[in-house]
Amino acid sequence: MPKILPVFLPFAYCGNKCIFCDQQAISGVQAENDLLLHAENQINQWKTYSNNYDEIAFYGGNFCAINKDIRLSLYKKAYNNGIKKIRFSTRPDTINSDTLKEIKDYNIYLVELGIQSLDDEVLKANGRPYTSYEAVKAVEQLLKVTKCGVQLMTSMYKQNMYSSIDDAAFFSKMDITTARIYPTQVLKNTHLNKLYEQGEYIPSRLEDILVTAAGMYIHFTAENIKVIRMGLPHEADDSGDITAGAGHKSFGDIVITLIMLLYMDMGGKVKFSGYKAAAKELFPENINSDNIMKQDMMQDICKNIRSKYLEDSKWFIKGQAAFYADKLKNKANN
Ligand code: SF4
Repeated sequence: MPKILPVFLPFAYCGNKCIFCDQQAISGVQAENDLLLHAENQINQWKTYSNNYDEIAFYGGNFCAINKDIRLSLYKKAYNNGIKKIRFSTRPDTINSDTLKEIKDYNIYLVELGIQSLDDEVLKANGRPYTSYEAVKAVEQLLKVTKCGVQLMTSMYKQNMYSSIDDAAFFSKMDITTARIYPTQVLKNTHLNKLYEQGEYIPSRLEDILVTAAGMYIHFTAENIKVIRMGLPHEADDSGDITAGAGHKSFGDIVITLIMLLYMDMGGKVKFSGYKAAAKELFPENINSDNIMKQDMMQDICKNIRSKYLEDSKWFIKGQAAFYADKLKNKANN
């Protein structure tokens, strides 16, 4: 695993107001006017823990919309600190010939795109300023100059569960490197919270979000795309700003557990390091504690599950996965 130094720049040059977003609440980092100083302070802070980072990651806001001089200074700061790889996240609408050239010239290692959905109605209803066509185009163009990751959401306003799984299936066939899966949670200071209070937005149940995220994870992992995050950062839970939306501090572990239950349901045997109680109860014979779970084993497991259960995402969310998600939702803490 590469050691990554994270620099969070909330709302930096975002210029937008997506209805679900409150980056300060989810990151625990306050927005600052002086981005360079803000980045430097965070870099210095992380360097007190270690002097040896493989990569630096600039997250939050809309990186490619930041003033170019500042972006170049941030690259220089990273390279001057001996960090060899740079990754950042940005919105698809900021990918153009200028930013692509810069990404190539400065040897940016990986760019994550906050895509969230490929449903144009969902994008519009949530205040995302681009279309699905533009988002896919941005991925295609990025892949010509560097590695690309995508960030997708579930349970957005006006989004249905199977469309999130279909989005993951679509991107799993592109040559991307990483994916993040974020279930929508309602944050206090957002328009989504107003829609929730008015009864316009009804958050999905935990079991439904688990099934959706499992379907997405299976598609990505079956194609060897690393899912590097499932669920909001812990800071969001700790902030007290979440008013609704099913989430869990161990969301990713529960999703993996659900996938393992599906695999064991097919007769598979696995080392089980997640929610043992639920797995042992349901499949006591299928847990082989001598094995070590590696990424390629996980890829095989996901390929098997995909071919058995995931040909149709509408069927998947109602079938065996839903059965196990229902069992898991009450055992999420043991
Ligand atoms: S999600 Fe990104 S683009 Fe949307 S308001 Fe938040 S920072 Fe801006």
